Amino acid sequence: MIINDKKRCTGKFDIVVVGAGLGGLTAANVLAKRGWKVLLVEQHFQLGGLATCFRRKHHIFDVALHGFPVGMRKTLRKYWSKKMAERIIQVPSIRFDNPQFSLDTTFTKEDFMDILVEKFGVERSVVNAFFAELDGMNYYDDRSMTNRELFEKYFPGRNDVVRLLMEPITYANGSTLDEPAITYGIVFSNFMSKGVYTFLGGTNAMLDMMVDELHTNGVEIRTNAMMEKINFDSHGRVAAAVIDGRAVECSAVLSNGNILSTARDWAGMDRFSKEFAEKINSVRLNNSSCQVYMGLKPGESIEPMGDLLFTSTHPVFEPKAILSKNVTSRTYSIYYPSIRPGSTDYTIVASMNADFADWAGLDGDAYKLEKQKLADDTLADLETRLPGITDKLDHVEVATPKTFKRYTLHGGGASFGTKFEGLEVSMDLSKEIPGLFHAGSVGIIMSGWLGAANYGVIVANHIDAYLEKPS
Ligand SMILES: Cc1cc2nc3c(=O)[nH]c(=O)nc-3n(C[C@H](O)[C@H](O)[C@H](O)COP(=O)(O)OP(=O)(O)OC[C@H]3O[C@@H](n4cnc5c(N)ncnc54)[C@H](O)[C@@H]3O)c2cc1C
Repeated sequence: MIINDKKRCTGKFDIVVVGAGLGGLTAANVLAKRGWKVLLVEQHFQLGGLATCFRRKHHIFDVALHGFPVGMRKTLRKYWSKKMAERIIQVPSIRFDNPQFSLDTTFTKEDFMDILVEKFGVERSVVNAFFAELDGMNYYDDRSMTNRELFEKYFPGRNDVVRLLMEPITYANGSTLDEPAITYGIVFSNFMSKGVYTFLGGTNAMLDMMVDELHTNGVEIRTNAMMEKINFDSHGRVAAAVIDGRAVECSAVLSNGNILSTARDWAGMDRFSKEFAEKINSVRLNNSSCQVYMGLKPGESIEPMGDLLFTSTHPVFEPKAILSKNVTSRTYSIYYPSIRPGSTDYTIVASMNADFADWAGLDGDAYKLEKQKLADDTLADLETRLPGITDKLDHVEVATPKTFKRYTLHGGGASFGTKFEGLEVSMDLSKEIPGLFHAGSVGIIMSGWLGAANYGVIVANHIDAYLEKPS
């Protein structure tokens, strides 16, 4: 998926899609299939945004392929190709290990219901009522109920139950107990319906297949291409995207970058009404991540120990502890060779939530030391689960919030864009500025692989309607 296409951006396009994350890629493909002339620009040298991977020695490290909902299969089939949809396979074994409980789950709704009844001793009728409430939640519902209130309603005083139900979501995107229960409900019931899924062949295979599709459908792709700002016509409509100092004429811009940089840097705050500008300024960025990537020496292996491990040494579930620089909670993704048929490579990726502020001020030696500490602590924790693992490794590398910021330009290296309030700003952007659209991580509903890809489709439909409307 590396397209070292240094060609300048020239010509006139119907739509310039800025950012080749899953939202941008999917929107570009949908719009091109409908016959629009699409330019896709990406500042990085490769596509994928956060849904990416990188090569070191004989390893390929997947950055964000821990798992996604089964809905990805339908999304790939409808908006990409049948061949890609066929590559969606279930992650077989998911494990929780913390001071309150250790258990294996298939991460299906049925399995979780049984675990709640049989291991946690919750009444079946209460479990049924809880899941019925989640299943009934949708985006337009009342948002005043928080996650804390939702859990208190069904499982009063049961921090262990809350940990089982909430911890994976908090690990993924930093959600807290004070956020609207509908965001949790929608995401959780999606994940819960049929387990957790992955892409056979790894991130690189998926992106390669996407590039083939984009080329087939006529999308022009430019990497190493930086969007700087938008030019407007005398009616305030989008007229051009300025990329690397060059104005590329277009009727619409779809931003897949961070919603705050889109509004502040590309459009300019003076273009928005006072009320909308206030909404923009109230949007909070989501937290970031740290990761430790570990690759086994050729010929070394590990016994199956689960594919996705939610681990913590913290005594209770406490979202703040999951974000702390003093790491107690790690999600391990174990990539056995079977993920890439024909390969013999084993890699392990440990992911931790992180706050940009904890890393932003570190430079030079201090930054190196903190990265080393993160790697050492992670290896010490992994040794308790996989004795002897350190000696089997030939590569260990650390990413921090600064790494994520550098590669995606998200403010604060945000892993999941913004908090919930970003969604309204993202969806209403084109009402304020005709021709400017946004599709990318906002809230937790439109984030993650499935959320971002589906949001790309939704916004592609809006762009289609905008371009077809006589001006
Ligand atoms: C460590 C980690 C693990 C994750 N694990 C999972 C997981 O297991 N499952 C899951 O579903 N989700 C996971 N996610 C989240 C998921 O990867 C993201 O939510 C999703 O990929 C975001 O897609 P997006 O469309 O919002 O675009 P992004 O991936 O945010 O991409 C935006 C793109 O825009 C480009 N861009 C920005 N500004 C400019 C500019 N000025 N000019 C040109 N290009 C620009 C960036 O370079 C980037 O490529 C994880 C995220 C992280 C960080």
